[in-house]
Amino acid sequence: MLGKVKLGDETGRLEALRRYQVLDTDIERPFETVVSLVEDILEVPICAVSLVDADRQWFKAQRGLDVCETARDIAFCHYAIQQEEPMVVTDATQDPRFSANPLVTGEAHLRAYVGIPLVSPDGYQVGTLCVMDTRPREFSARDLKILGKFAQLVVDELELRIQAGSDQLTGVMARHNWVSMVKEEIQRAARNANLLCIALFDIDRFKRINDAYGHPVGDVVIRSVIAACQTELRAGSKLGRIGGEEFAILFTECALDQAVVAAERCRRAIERLALTGPDGEYLEITASFGVAPLFSYALSPEELIELADRALYQAKSGGRNRVEVGQVINTFYPGTA
Ligand code: GH3
Ligand code: MG
Ligand code: MG
Repeated sequence: MLGKVKLGDETGRLEALRRYQVLDTDIERPFETVVSLVEDILEVPICAVSLVDADRQWFKAQRGLDVCETARDIAFCHYAIQQEEPMVVTDATQDPRFSANPLVTGEAHLRAYVGIPLVSPDGYQVGTLCVMDTRPREFSARDLKILGKFAQLVVDELELRIQAGSDQLTGVMARHNWVSMVKEEIQRAARNANLLCIALFDIDRFKRINDAYGHPVGDVVIRSVIAACQTELRAGSKLGRIGGEEFAILFTECALDQAVVAAERCRRAIERLALTGPDGEYLEITASFGVAPLFSYALSPEELIELADRALYQAKSGGRNRVEVGQVINTFYPGTA
């Protein structure tokens, strides 16, 4: 992994962490198994899978700690993710970076620490697998090797979690995963007083494609439609498969007019797809879109989907291949009532 690590790109790093959708999730067995094995094998009182968020470290699994997160500025792991090699501290009282740290001077009494960065496949250090001791101690090359293997296992598990939440045909988020992600994003938008929108879209007269050319051609069309949208969307926009040939996009930190523009770009990209059937015949592919703004932070993902779905229905009944906006009466988005 050496050489592939991207240090100093905090925005990209946080994006990589968000992609895992793991912050504030429940206990999961693979991570529990890792920390308990490490605790036994290295004979350490403290072990954690620490994920370093913007201003905190959050523990996906831990042994020997009585908190589930700490502020980032006192976290040893904050330092560990800034270097490519494992960070080893044998006696924190002798280390100028940590001798005045409240985790060292206070009740926790930390002395020794090893943090192995958890590196995403695209090179971002999203957190660490770390061990700590309340007495000074050395760590052997074998200890580091074992920790390194377990850290890789943690990343593999994080990657598997993503795949389990992805749609097989297109690779975008599966419905349940997209909906729970939207739920989290609504909460985040509320905390930061941000705007957020969603769009639903459905391929027009898609049954005809299946009926005329068969299901495998239909599948190619679905994949091409998604690929076309992906090239139009920025990284913060998240695609999900909501139904058979019905998809959804979440636009974070996005006002309604911007979401409409983005949806319109996707609509045009789909319209421009120059796909051909088995005999070289041109396939006319279009889709209809319904866009809805988060006009109240009290909305649930389902209510937002319902609003977008009504707009989508209007787009269909209005002639298809168009973008419609869900009509809401509010002061949140002036001009949409
Ligand atoms: P409309 O413009 O009103 O949306 O017409 P439509 O024909 O697209 O609507 P309808 O919802 O009746 O048909 C959708 C079709 O999509 C029916 C279903 O067989 C097909 N479909 C759903 N999932 C898949 C899939 O994964 N692959 C393929 N090839 N077809 C699928
Ligand atoms: Mg359809
Ligand atoms: Mg449909």
